[in-house]
Parts: sequence; structure tokens; C-alpha cells
Amino acid sequence: MLIQILTLFPEMFDGPFNCSILKRAQEQNLVEFRYHNFRDFTTDKHRMVDDSPYGGGSGMVLKPEPIYRCLQAVKKDRPLAKTILMTPQGAVFDQKLARQLSAEEHLIFICGHYEGFDERIRQWADFELSIGDYVLTGGELAVMVVCDALVRLIPGALGSDESAVRDSFTGSLLDFPQYTRPVEFEGSAVPELLLSGHHAKIEAWRREQAIVRTAQRRPDLLKDANLTEAEQRFLME
Ligand code: SAM
Repeated sequence: MLIQILTLFPEMFDGPFNCSILKRAQEQNLVEFRYHNFRDFTTDKHRMVDDSPYGGGSGMVLKPEPIYRCLQAVKKDRPLAKTILMTPQGAVFDQKLARQLSAEEHLIFICGHYEGFDERIRQWADFELSIGDYVLTGGELAVMVVCDALVRLIPGALGSDESAVRDSFTGSLLDFPQYTRPVEFEGSAVPELLLSGHHAKIEAWRREQAIVRTAQRRPDLLKDANLTEAEQRFLME
């Protein structure tokens, strides 16, 4: 997968995208990131990317020309690449979208900054994406969140592809509780069943725990969880 990011601050990606699973995914050629500073596509001597808003008001607005030129250059060889504009006004990102995006061959993200974009920029995006109902200073952190979530879903990116299958939000249930060594710590013990080696019982316990946990923390998810009648009865008890 090729991910191209249009940003005024490419250096922001240096650290986060060069460690752990994202680093390994790039080393394995599962994903390649390219950064494009749209300031390089200005033509005036001050290399201006923003200007004050028509109609007055505070803050600066990103000008259309540098982003347009940058996008044209990036899309030249790959006109079908999906272009995503990062904005708090977009569709709210979730695991389902992460999975859909992880199947794409080529994505382009546009990061805003300052007060946002000149409205005409919106028409060049295939869709607009938000990472939640709050306002960041720029789209870079939002793109990092989106890319982190989608890259780990590319087959081969995680040590075992099974880890992603069981994740919260993948099958409408939150993940079940996990334990590792030691068996007992500060008076708190690992549930005995997990030490039994009885795989069928462990599976059943995990499913039950995931259902209970979802019911307690995110009951809104249960409507899509396809619970069996027995599981529904168990929840009522
Ligand atoms: N004035 C804009 C508004 O209220 O819609 C917010 C502009 S924000 C300060 C600057 C840039 O940060 C946005 O253009 C966008 O690219 C990015 N951004 C801020 N919050 C975001 C969010 N929740 N999700 C995705 N991008 C966000």
C-alpha cells in the first residue's frame, strides 16, 4: 500500500511512524509513506499557503492553489487513488473504516492547519474524515491515528493476524480480559480456568467475558453482536 500525506509539517511523522509495528510494516514493504509539503507548490516569493478569510474574522485559511498543485502532482501517475481530507466535520473514523481503508492500494491524506481549508478544497477529496468530536491544531495527528489503525490490519503487519481478529470493535464485542505471568500478583490471581489447558472451556469463558464487558461498558454495541438465545438469557440473569 502506498500512503501519501500532504502536510505542512512532514517532520511530525518522523518519530511515530518509525517505531514498532509501523516501522516493521515499512521494512516488510507492506506499506510505504511519502510526505509532500504543499508549501513546495507555492509560486510567490513568500511561499504563502494561507491567507485571511474573506468576510473577516480571526485566523488564517489554507489557500486552494498549493494544495491543488500538490494533489495534481501526487495523483499524476495514480489518478484512482482515494483522497481523504482530514477535518473535524468529516465522517467519524472507526474500526470498520480502518478495515475498509486497509484494503486500498493507494491513499492520499490532506492535513489542514490554522483555521482550516478554503471551502473549494473539499471538492477534490473523495471523502472527509474526522477522528472524533474535538478540534486539533492540524490534521497530522489525526492522520497518524488513522494510519496506525489501518496499517496493523494489513495482512502480515501484526505478528499473528489472529490478534486483530479478536480486537475490540472487530466483531461488535469488546476484547475479553487478558492475563500473563505471574499467576498471582499482589493478591490478585489469574482465573484458574485459563491455567487448565482446556481450550473449549477457555474459548467459552472468553466469549462470555467479552459479552459481559461489552454489556457493562458499551451496551450500544450489543445490538450488532449476534448473541445466541442462551447468551441473551445469560445477560438477563
Ligand atoms: N475551523 C475548523 C472547524 O471548526 O471545522 C477546524 C480547523 S482545525 C484548527 C485545523 C485542521 O486540523 C483541520 O483543517 C483538520 O485538518 C485538522 N483537524 C482538527 N481536528 C480534527 C479532527 N477531529 N479530525 C480530523 N482532523 C482534524
